[in-house]
Amino acid sequence: MDLIDRVDSWGRAAPDRPAHVSGDRALSYGELVRRSDTLAAQLARTLPDDRSPVALLGHKEPEMLIGFLGAVKAGHPYIPLDTTLPEQRVARVVAMAGARLTLTPERVAALADHPEPPPSRRVGPADPYYVIFTSGSTGEPKGVIITLNCLTSFVTWMLAEQAPAEQQETFLNQAPFSFDLSVMDLYLSLTSGGTLFSIGAEEIANPKQLYRSLAASGLTTWVSTPSFAQMCLVERGLDAGMLPQLRRFMFCGETLPPGVAAQLLDRFPGTEVWNTYGPTEATVATTSVRIDRDILARYAPLPLGYPMPGTQILLLDETGRPVAPGERGEIAIAGPNVSPGYLGRPDLTERAFFVLDGVQAYRTGDWGRFRDGMLFFEGRIDNQIKLRGYRIELGDVEANLRALPMVRDAVVLPVLRQGQPDSLAAFVILAERLPGPDPAVSRALRAQLAEQLPAYMLPRRFSVLESFPMTANGKVDRRKLAETLG
Ligand code: AMP
Repeated sequence: MDLIDRVDSWGRAAPDRPAHVSGDRALSYGELVRRSDTLAAQLARTLPDDRSPVALLGHKEPEMLIGFLGAVKAGHPYIPLDTTLPEQRVARVVAMAGARLTLTPERVAALADHPEPPPSRRVGPADPYYVIFTSGSTGEPKGVIITLNCLTSFVTWMLAEQAPAEQQETFLNQAPFSFDLSVMDLYLSLTSGGTLFSIGAEEIANPKQLYRSLAASGLTTWVSTPSFAQMCLVERGLDAGMLPQLRRFMFCGETLPPGVAAQLLDRFPGTEVWNTYGPTEATVATTSVRIDRDILARYAPLPLGYPMPGTQILLLDETGRPVAPGERGEIAIAGPNVSPGYLGRPDLTERAFFVLDGVQAYRTGDWGRFRDGMLFFEGRIDNQIKLRGYRIELGDVEANLRALPMVRDAVVLPVLRQGQPDSLAAFVILAERLPGPDPAVSRALRAQLAEQLPAYMLPRRFSVLESFPMTANGKVDRRKLAETLG
């Protein structure tokens, strides 16, 4: 029984159980399976059997789940795209991926309406299962291919470690489906007969509504970025009284501040707090650790944890050789959860991926160190940052700024608050001196950039300069620019 069969089995064992709840909509397992079979039959009839990806463009609608399963049941990987992405970025991704079809929730609803048995073809173990696009340093997003085997190795590990009670759990889905953190809640839930409880962008923007939904959710497993939990902790009423069934918090995607873990342990005495770490290229997460009082008292920053069984973490020096025990090195991951590479980009794949004793491996660009058998994060080697859990290549924002006719050159830096990126600042040299005050220029730059980049990648402030400060060897002096941010 593979992962898809496992999800399907809940359609027979618990057809009426909700597989997904979002706002006032609920989708049962019976419906999810029946409608994804129907969609798959339609896709198999209309698309050639060429494993080309199918793009799913929506937000937290139940049709997204039907679309994901429908695509893989027809032998096509899916690309989850969130409606908050600007049209032009969506169009670039769809073109780069060679997707023959972009499905919206409305299209899925129309296609999945009449019961039909599934087609004979579907995604095999080594085939691409989904493709998630992340920020690329040159201004083009890159598509990480995750095979069914990759996903299965991740989900099998999580099910064994967290042992969710079958048909009894409700998982928080905070991250958009285009961010691979959502894979943790989506597939832990669907394979254990759980309910995925999605909160949408509107609810997140409206705290009263958000806490009302959370209080009524029956959540047993909280999956989010640490930033989201930190935001929710502002509400004093967020505690075990509001979420009495909560068994565990699971975090991934960015640094978990000790202060956040401490507050959660105080407010939720019976609930476990887990930190997990990993890049999209190694299927959501590769290490994990339970943060209890003892770990909290002993380590700051907190550990990323122990590697999942069957996967190796190596720390490499610049020449690619392992560093001495206890030394800092670049984190590389080798195991069945590592992606075969970037879709249609053998050049990028060759740079970041390698094979170690016959096993696929990936260089993360993260600095790490082992202590007491656990991995610790020590920053980035390059200009990639995390902003409220979102992965951003500063070079991506810079390249998109430079592509604007108004701009000759641009540098983008994170503005730090308590040591963590809090927003972005752009320094630009204009192609021509423009009439009008700086705020008008900033507004114009922001509006033009917003047509290319998602909102979370837009700089909050823009400074127009005549020239950039230079280092002794003639590079832009980013440190000097950063000092001006105060
Ligand atoms: P993404 O591909 O969006 O999941 O981003 C992966 C990157 O996020 C990693 O390479 C790290 O730089 C960072 N990251 C992920 N999890 C953690 C964590 N638990 N602590 C610190 N950084 C993390």
